[in-house]
Amino acid sequence: QLQSPKYKRVLLKISGEVLAGKIEPDKEKFGIDMAACFPIAEEIKEAIAAGTEVCLVIGGGNIFRGLKGVGQGMERAQADSMGMLATVMNALAMQGALEEIGVPARVQSAVEMPKICEPFIRRRAIRHMEKGRVVIFAAGTGNPFFTTDTGAALRAAEMGCDAMLKGTQVDGVYTADPKLDPEATRFDHLGYMEVLNKDLRVMDATAVSLMKENHIPIVVFSIHNKGSLAEVLAGNGICTVIEN
Ligand code: UDP
Repeated sequence: QLQSPKYKRVLLKISGEVLAGKIEPDKEKFGIDMAACFPIAEEIKEAIAAGTEVCLVIGGGNIFRGLKGVGQGMERAQADSMGMLATVMNALAMQGALEEIGVPARVQSAVEMPKICEPFIRRRAIRHMEKGRVVIFAAGTGNPFFTTDTGAALRAAEMGCDAMLKGTQVDGVYTADPKLDPEATRFDHLGYMEVLNKDLRVMDATAVSLMKENHIPIVVFSIHNKGSLAEVLAGNGICTVIEN
């Protein structure tokens, strides 16, 4: 039973680690496991069938993070270039998974690489979405010293999204880490300023500020609960909504 969506157009942000699949706890998640991409693709397919236009930003942390390179003696801007390239690989993997299950998708990169994917062209991206295609924005903002959270916030604003959905390991923002503290409780609603002042670390501050300025709610939910994306889009899923 498909419910009519609360949001008409959304940007979904997931971290790169989501694509790394299951490995032993405490071990760093690395690489791309297509078996981990397909469930996400199915969630997106369901959301589109219910009438929401979806665009996507995937991080690169499962392959390379700029700051890790810096820790190992690399120059920041160069390390960040590697991080941005990592996000392109993830985007291509997700494009493959989506198209395999019959959802047309296009990767648009903030760093031009026309042999591999389209460059980011805002109006073209909007057109793709109007035609029911999923646009996957790769390479973050195209600049070093930024994160894919900020890239996601930027694209959400540019694309006129009604919400930015952050799919995480847990089903919202908690008072403390629910894995460590059994007393932790989930917030249903939070203000942007609360997130910034309490340093709740759902997203980096640049991304939260950009969403605040543009009045775009951030919806934090679990990407691992089957059907959760469609439920959140219908307005009745378990999540934390960050808005004014
Ligand atoms: N990155 C960048 N500029 C951007 C977005 C990302 O330089 O606009 C680089 C940065 O090095 C970052 C890496 O890409 O560490 C991967 O992105 P992120 O850490 O946000 O991925 P996630 O944690 O979401 O998997």
